Amino acid sequence: MSHHLDDPVTCLPGVGPKLAGRLAEAFGIRTLRGLLEHYPRRYHDAGAVLDLGEVEEGTPATLLGEVLDWSTRRIPPKGARSRPLDLAEGRIRQASGAVFTVTFFNQRWRPATLPPGTVAAFSGTVKRFRRDLQLTSPDVQTLGTVAAGADAASAAQRLDHQRLLAVYPAVEGLPSFKLNELVAAALEVLAEVDDWLPERLRRDQGLRDLDGALRAIHAPADHADRHTARRRLAFDELFSLQLGLQWRRARLEADTVGLDNGPVEGGWAERFRAELPFPLTGAQTRALATIGTDLGGTRPMHRLLQGDVGSGKTVVAVWAMLSAVDRGRQAALMVPTEVLAEQHHRTLTELLAPLGVNVLDGLRVAALTSSTPVRERRRILSELLTGELDLIVGTHALLEEGVRFADLGVVVIDEQHRFGVSQRVRLKEKAGSSDAVAGAVGEKGGGISAGGGVSPGAATAPDVLVMTATPIPRSLALTLYGDLDVTVLDELPPGREPITTQLITPREAHRRSRLEAFIRTEVAQGRRAYVVCPFVEESDALPGKGAVEEHRRLAREVFGDLEVALVHGRLSAADKDAAMTAFRTGAAQVLVSTTVIEVGVDVPEATIMVIEDAERFGLSQLHQLRGRVGRGGGRSFCVLFAGWSAELSEEAGERLTAVAGTTDGFELAEADLRLRGSGQLFGSAQSGLPDLTLARIQEDIDLVAATRRLATELVAEDADLSSSRHRSLRDEVLRRYAGGLEAFAALETG
Ligand code: ADP
Ligand code: MG
Repeated sequence: MSHHLDDPVTCLPGVGPKLAGRLAEAFGIRTLRGLLEHYPRRYHDAGAVLDLGEVEEGTPATLLGEVLDWSTRRIPPKGARSRPLDLAEGRIRQASGAVFTVTFFNQRWRPATLPPGTVAAFSGTVKRFRRDLQLTSPDVQTLGTVAAGADAASAAQRLDHQRLLAVYPAVEGLPSFKLNELVAAALEVLAEVDDWLPERLRRDQGLRDLDGALRAIHAPADHADRHTARRRLAFDELFSLQLGLQWRRARLEADTVGLDNGPVEGGWAERFRAELPFPLTGAQTRALATIGTDLGGTRPMHRLLQGDVGSGKTVVAVWAMLSAVDRGRQAALMVPTEVLAEQHHRTLTELLAPLGVNVLDGLRVAALTSSTPVRERRRILSELLTGELDLIVGTHALLEEGVRFADLGVVVIDEQHRFGVSQRVRLKEKAGSSDAVAGAVGEKGGGISAGGGVSPGAATAPDVLVMTATPIPRSLALTLYGDLDVTVLDELPPGREPITTQLITPREAHRRSRLEAFIRTEVAQGRRAYVVCPFVEESDALPGKGAVEEHRRLAREVFGDLEVALVHGRLSAADKDAAMTAFRTGAAQVLVSTTVIEVGVDVPEATIMVIEDAERFGLSQLHQLRGRVGRGGGRSFCVLFAGWSAELSEEAGERLTAVAGTTDGFELAEADLRLRGSGQLFGSAQSGLPDLTLARIQEDIDLVAATRRLATELVAEDADLSSSRHRSLRDEVLRRYAGGLEAFAALETG
């Protein structure tokens, strides 16, 4: 009873270097903490475990005991039975000393998996055979082994009253029951665990104490016990994560001062708003108010702007960018692809046209990508440095060496999940040509360390607005983007056309030709259609349509009377641009493409979106693609061809059914998270997110929200968690993330 969580597993009786090595190798378990945080995967509900004396013949029962020995024999064929029967008969001794038999037929491997000394639970129907009580072909759950010389009765007894038996993630050589034994041994030697959560907080949140929870998660008395234990431990995972995030953010802000980019009366931003050809939606109006306050505030803005496809995020972004120009500064919009950069550049130019763009006294706007010709690039770079250019749209090219701003006030990052962390940091580092600014945001606050406080020479930092093209579930936003404030555009502009989504499998092959006829009628009325393929070209490696082949087929065989354009990532920028222009102007009525058109492309006349081999696309990708239609050109259609080049998996089927079932992006995002699990989502975001072992962000959304609120309040009151009351909280965060502070750096999305 004197060991601590950080003691090595070798402090347990019977754990030598060899077993310790195996634990470390298989699960990374080195300490008692590691062992106790190797949580059960599930629980085996043994039901009522009975003593032989209580057993009624002919009823189902679970009997528990130690294997004494086995006898095997072969029963020769007889009568209709043409094969011999292999019979294995084991004698099992209960803790009371009573003995029963278990029999298995044609399972010659059984005795080897249950050697003498094994303690196991056998569930089946009890029969009396001669004078013996017997279970025939019972279900078996191995519980442990009676160590040489150990008392069989006590081993059985320990397990006897444990109705819910933990089943652990196991590997060859370290079976679950071995882990049961080790965990039980650890709980036996472990001194009472100190609780890092203040009692008051625990009481307010209705959480049980840590010591009890750690014990109960491994050996719960009943389901309620297991449940409260899990809740407490999941709370710890989420709360320490949120504390880390908020703490880190507070430190970053302590080192930097925000710029006043608040909108100016009679300025560009105000005029832009007044000149828009449509009234803002209520959600947009609210977003502008919030962002306006951020921009004018003394803390740098770190805000996530979320909204469904077509909710009008661009207008909000442009307004924020113009606010910086009102203060004599510059603004940058960074996007992940060249097509999107072109699109945004054009949108910006159109939206700003009423204010005057690239004319004397007008706004100066440019786009920079890796395809920008050298001479133009040189001009843009020099104008960025002198401050002549007000707004720049660009891809990763904005991050290259040699791109410097005179005075960068606002940074908007679209599709932020597609950028790596280091890239985001780099753009902010370009905030100004003065040395004081470079690196201030990205590097200095790079980690949480004990000690340190507000640095005296605080630098200025631009305001950052991050946008996602597709909604992400609230639970994910609050964790993955835990250090960002979140604004949601939860309202679509009026006049959106409904989109009908249909799924076509090869069983309804005739619908393909019907669709082709339908496209022709739509085109005759001035409408346009996208056809999206998963690959540029077909290959043997992965089944699925190639855009090049499909373009050839459609142009020659199907729509010989129409103009069919082609766009994909391997085309030159000029060819891409030509194809997009043809489609936008109507010179081409059908556009065959890969997912290069996934985001941002805005052609209101397009009313049909055909997606080939739709199972090859992720749920949010499908939603994005569908968002390319329904933009004002009339009633719209999305047609998903699935199962044509390969058999449809169950998961893919569910995904497609979900897409067909709703056009609400937030609903789909929740479905996506459910289908894929948060682990994969975090993984795909390359977040390096610290492990959430027990917490499930979707089911535990109440905990996610509560821990975030608590952490924010706490850090607001004590930015560096330096008060003595918060010592244990501070220590816990440092302990969990010490050495792994990259985790927070990865989550630093501003
Ligand atoms: P997303 O949020 O997907 O980026 P966009 O910003 O591209 O959406 O906007 C989609 C379309 O809706 C654009 O054509 C844009 O001009 C238009 N739009 C934006 N706000 C409004 C509004 N308040 N009323 C009508 N149309 C709007
Ligand atoms: Mg957009």
